[in-house]
Order: sequence, then structure tokens, then C-alpha cells
Amino acid sequence: MIYLDHAAATPVSKRVFEAMKPYFLDDFFNPSAAYLPAKKVSADYEAAKGIIAHAIGAKANDLVMTAGATEANNLAFSAANNGAVLYLATEHDSIRKVAQKYNGQEIKVDKNGRILLDDLKTKINDEVVLISVALCNNELGTIQPLSEIAAMVREVRLDRLSRGIKKPLHLHSDASQALNLLNVNVARLGADLLTLNAAKVYGPKGVGCLYVSHEVKLSPLNYGGGQENGLRSGTENVPGVIGFAKAVEEAVKHMNGNRKKYAEYKKILLSELQGYELVNKKHSLDNFVVLCYNGIDAERLIFLLEEKWVYVSTGAACAASKGEKSHVLSAIGLSDSEIAGSLRLTLGETNDESQIHEAAKLINEAVNIERKRSV
Ligand code: PLP
Repeated sequence: MIYLDHAAATPVSKRVFEAMKPYFLDDFFNPSAAYLPAKKVSADYEAAKGIIAHAIGAKANDLVMTAGATEANNLAFSAANNGAVLYLATEHDSIRKVAQKYNGQEIKVDKNGRILLDDLKTKINDEVVLISVALCNNELGTIQPLSEIAAMVREVRLDRLSRGIKKPLHLHSDASQALNLLNVNVARLGADLLTLNAAKVYGPKGVGCLYVSHEVKLSPLNYGGGQENGLRSGTENVPGVIGFAKAVEEAVKHMNGNRKKYAEYKKILLSELQGYELVNKKHSLDNFVVLCYNGIDAERLIFLLEEKWVYVSTGAACAASKGEKSHVLSAIGLSDSEIAGSLRLTLGETNDESQIHEAAKLINEAVNIERKRSV
């Protein structure tokens, strides 16, 4: 198998799996229970939160652990209260759909998927309370200039203050795709709210968190036992969070080596693949390669490649499964036929160099079959 869809899912690493195991079998106690073994589990859980928080320059108590990034993104939007929200046109559906509830307005992007700061500037009126911009896009890998956006947010806050306007303005960033390859530090980025996702960093699925700065007031996602500072009730997912912490440690440890490795693999792919137009030319994560084979149906390439045990995608797994046109590729100005011909390869720890050469060969063969078929 050659798996080139690491943006959709990463396998749980062996170390992560081993770290989680005791918390399923022996240390299964409810962290809220009063007896000693449960108190140990509670301490381990808090320590795991501390490890995740430390990786982004925060404290355990700043994190609300959730069942994945979707929940964290939905929770972040409660910061809007009844105010207006702005979000990037290329955001994941877990942002776009919740933003609709708040009458959210889209911020435009350029052809590389980077935010148009002028568009953002004209749209931040006095009603806006929340701005949401993913650190890295999940279809293109585009890295956003978050600290520049944060600087703009700070200016607006000062201006509001000088005019006696009390309305807050918060910056949220979905960093689900970022942690493998980028140093994510909330203070440096200037994010007031930040989403992380264990499932994209070789941790378990259905585990994530939201970093919440002290200035932000959120409404609970659900009601119950009052766990996670009352914002996300429900018995803690101890094995999941322990696994998440291990995955974060590993991601930080291997970040530089992986970045170099993926950049090299990307170079190989771009030189050995034929007849494509590169879609994500600039400001992209090293493990994202988005190719456009105009005139070809990329869905058919996926099926041809699957027969050879090569797994790739046309974009976000959730949109692809519904047969929807990618809103991300639309937002960067691709035509319908360019969108139909676009293929996303996302590299990861399951790959080695020989697989990359083999994948390039098999993709070229599949493209040739389709080109012949379509003339
Ligand atoms: N945000 C981004 C950028 C993602 O890539 C994903 C997953 O594909 C999500 C949010 C949603 O994550 P989950 O399905 O784990 O809740």
C-alpha cells in the first residue's frame, strides 16, 4: 500500500498506542472518583493536558479537551455570543457550517489560498466579535500569516477602545493540520482561541482540544458533570488524551526531520510526475502536493490508483464522500474542469522514498490511461 492521504487521517503510532493501552485496561478509573487509583488517573490526565498545552506555549487549564476538532471549532464560535463573525472562504466545513448560524461573512483568498488582508480590513466593522482563520488549510496546505492578522486585530481593539466601544474582538485559528510541521505557539501567533486535532498527528481519532485565552468567554458545548471548566461536560477520554499528548511530543521531536524529508519527497514527485499544473505553488506545508490534470476526471484517477493500492484524494474527505465540488478550489479561482481534475497528495510517516518514486510512476500511468480514454 502507498498511502498519500495523511491530511485525511494518520495511523496511530505504535508509541502512542502503547502509551494509551494501560488506560484502557488497568488505569480505567473515572478521574472524578474519590479513591487513590482514580486520583492517579486524574493526575496523569492533567499531566497529559500539560504536555499538549506546553507544545503551544500554554497551560493545562487553558485547554478544553473535546471529541475532535469539529467540536473544538464549534465551541470556539460560542465566543461570538450574538456578535458578527468573519471566516476565511477556504475553512473546513466544521467552521463554515457553524459560521452560518452566526450569519458569518467570508474573507477572500488569493490564488494560493492566502488571506486577502485588505478584504479582511474592510470587513472588520464594529459588530465583528470573532475572526476565524485556519493556520493551515486542509486541502491546499496553505499557511496563513496569522501573526499579521493578529496585529491587525490588535489595532482594531485599540481603535475601539479609543472610541469607547467595549465589544471584544477575538482571533480563532484551526491548527488541525499544522502541528506536524509547524511550530505552533499561541502567543507568537497572537491567537485567542486555537483548535488542535489528535487524529492528524498520529494520535487517536475523536480527540482534540481548544486553547482558550483568559480574555475569552465561551458558552458550554453541552451540560452535565461540569468537566473541562464546565465547557465540555462528560467523563474525560483519558486514553485518548494520554495518546494525544504522546502524539504531540512525537510531532515536536520529529518536526525538523520530517519537514526536510517531505520537502525532498515533494521535489521528487514534482520532477517525476508528468502533465500536471501545480495548484499549491506558494506558502504551502511541505507535505501537501496538489496537482491539476485539466481535462481529466480526478475521481477516475483515484479508482485506477486504488487498484494498484495507492490511496490519494481529490480534497477534503468529507466533501469528497458527498460528491461535492471543493469550495476551497473554487475560492482560489479554479474553473469547474480544473477542480474536477485536481488531485491531493499528502505525505506522511507511512511513506519512504521508494514509495514516492513508485507512486509517481503509477500516477503517470493512470493519467496516461485517462488521457487516452478522454480523446
Ligand atoms: N479542521 C480541519 C482543518 C480538518 O482538516 C479537520 C479534519 O479533517 C477538521 C477540522 C475536523 O476534524 P474531526 O473530524 O476530527 O473533528
